Amino acid sequence: MSDKPNLEEIRKELDDLNERMLDTISQRMQLVEKVAAAKLAQPGQKLRDKERERVMLAELAKKAREKGLNPYYVKRIFNDLIEYSLDDQSRHMSRRDPAETKDLVRIGFQGVEGAYSHLAAQKHFAKDLENAAFVGYSTFGDAFRACERGDLDFVVLPLENTIGGSINATYRLLEDSALHIVGEEVWQVQHCLIGLENVPLGRVRHIASHPQALLQCSAFLASLPGITVESFTDTAEAVRRLKERQEITHAAIASEDAAERYGLHVLKRDIADQKENYTKFVVCAKNPVEYDARLDTKISLVLATNHKEGALLQCLRPFHEHGLNLLKLESRPKLHTPWEYQFYVDFEGHIADQNVTNALEQIQRHTSYLKVLGCYPIRTQGFDAVQVAEDVESTALKEEVAGAFCETPAEPAKTKSAKPYRLAARESGDEKTEIKVGDVVLGDGSFTVIAGPCAVESREQIMESAKLVRDLGGVMLRGGVFKPRTSPYSFQGMGYEGLDYLVEAGKTYGLPIVTEVMHPQDVMKVAAKADVIQIGARNMQNFSLLSELGRCRRPILLKRGMMASIDELLMAAEYILAGGNSQVILCERGIRTFETATRNTLDLQAIPVLKRLTHLPIIVDPSHAAGDRELVVPMALAAAAAGADGIIVETHPHPDQAICDGPQALTPEQFRQVTSGVQAIGRALAGSAAAAKSA
Ligand code: PEP
Ligand code: MN
Repeated sequence: MSDKPNLEEIRKELDDLNERMLDTISQRMQLVEKVAAAKLAQPGQKLRDKERERVMLAELAKKAREKGLNPYYVKRIFNDLIEYSLDDQSRHMSRRDPAETKDLVRIGFQGVEGAYSHLAAQKHFAKDLENAAFVGYSTFGDAFRACERGDLDFVVLPLENTIGGSINATYRLLEDSALHIVGEEVWQVQHCLIGLENVPLGRVRHIASHPQALLQCSAFLASLPGITVESFTDTAEAVRRLKERQEITHAAIASEDAAERYGLHVLKRDIADQKENYTKFVVCAKNPVEYDARLDTKISLVLATNHKEGALLQCLRPFHEHGLNLLKLESRPKLHTPWEYQFYVDFEGHIADQNVTNALEQIQRHTSYLKVLGCYPIRTQGFDAVQVAEDVESTALKEEVAGAFCETPAEPAKTKSAKPYRLAARESGDEKTEIKVGDVVLGDGSFTVIAGPCAVESREQIMESAKLVRDLGGVMLRGGVFKPRTSPYSFQGMGYEGLDYLVEAGKTYGLPIVTEVMHPQDVMKVAAKADVIQIGARNMQNFSLLSELGRCRRPILLKRGMMASIDELLMAAEYILAGGNSQVILCERGIRTFETATRNTLDLQAIPVLKRLTHLPIIVDPSHAAGDRELVVPMALAAAAAGADGIIVETHPHPDQAICDGPQALTPEQFRQVTSGVQAIGRALAGSAAAAKSA
């Protein structure tokens, strides 16, 4: 009998051992389930115990060394096991309604089967694989919109790669979408060179892949002289095409999984420049998922700061003050506004935590826009555990040293009063909100005159009106293109054609424009062209409209309803603020009383009352209150005297020919009286304030 080792037998033994290891893993997972149940029974018990993980890994590394094993690999294996258990436990503690209650869960991704997005999606929904349908789309946008339409329950898109950085297309989609981030997934990218047959590398002449993958393998590509490269929409698509073309000298860069799926050969594994190549994916859905507060969750935000010096610092301070750990801060260019930026922030926390709510309320004061993209379990932890120092002592030392440099977190900042309008409310010491529209600033103590016709009637009419407004002292142009008319037979406005004329007039005379929107579906379309969106008195409590305005980045001029109390006006503003849009200008435009001598009754007391209650700017519309141009002049001056931040008045080059609200349209001469009158009042008020100060 020969004592030469028998490969077959050894392999058999290995297979048996693997199976026993699987049994052990299965036993471990059963224990993990018990742990999850025990944690659930203990209120306040966090899912993750990082200290225990660290001690356990260090202990295992020590034992591995004693047994002559490489501690690096042992730690890596156990790290994966920990990740697996945490994933399992977090599912126990999460309410993932769609996946649990529906028969079939539809999950979208960009690319074809075997693409990294597909693999990450499968990993994320590994427990639901039997009732999951994965649908590939050719672009990120197609996949995203399918989810917005309700064709998908979830969409999984890449957001960031540890070598390539942020993935802009996904950020763009998240920006304006109503979808929520409900989860994240991390995929370790292991690029392989894939060929039709097992040819030597020297025979490869042409390599195709996704541009990111080509970039990540640039050192490897540079080592192959004379090859040509070709880009595809995703890595798996490059493999599919390779198979179709049947060119023996062609190859593709993709995952090993893609090679298997298409029955091709891996010519070389791990060809990326950097081994630690991870891609983070976000999982989005129409509705947010409520996660148990004991899970380690993060919150993702997008915010745009006010145009004030130090605004970014003010936005970041509440994180520190509330002891919230920032995980990521990324600045990205704002759409339509060159050289202005918005910020993406990830921080550790749970959305139901009062500390988080308070911090967000404080931050919103310094933003023009703030949107919570989602709150979801963290999957980006533990990736440093393999590289950390080999033993517990040195880790502990590192922490001690780090601790010496750490400030203790400040006392949690004051909690806000229980007013129903928390974001609109003014607390003592709060700064007033300033809203910048082009060169005009509302709420900074200056007086803003907005003027123009009730409705845009023609190109000529709005051009002539704009010239009049500019020449006589107005700084912003109004003009309705969607008109809320009491009678269905009246002129309803010129719609988008009128909007284009209004835009042209505003640009020609250097005046930002304000126009009314009545329907939620028009908000984003109008916001793309108008500087300020007006919500008319009749729509102050149109809640679907208010919610849409919350998602919009333009300042909103919100008129008080004819029958609305001041509190109701503030609650309507709160809808917009709570939706993320911090730029609301309140407008008093007259209310219905028993008095019939005028169109409505201008409630000038609302100005000082609102100044007391809110930090938002307040302007007055005397035109719609009075309904009579003779009364508009004194009421405009009274508004300035009462401390308003501005007025919005109707004026028309030929008031008698106005299609809409002609009787209240100021003549050019009356408009001149108004602008010079409010300036005089402004000077008088400033003078008396200075006198009172020096007295
Ligand atoms: C308007 O500004 O033209 C208008 C219709 O105003 P209100 O909503 O205040 O009536
Ligand atoms: Mn009008």
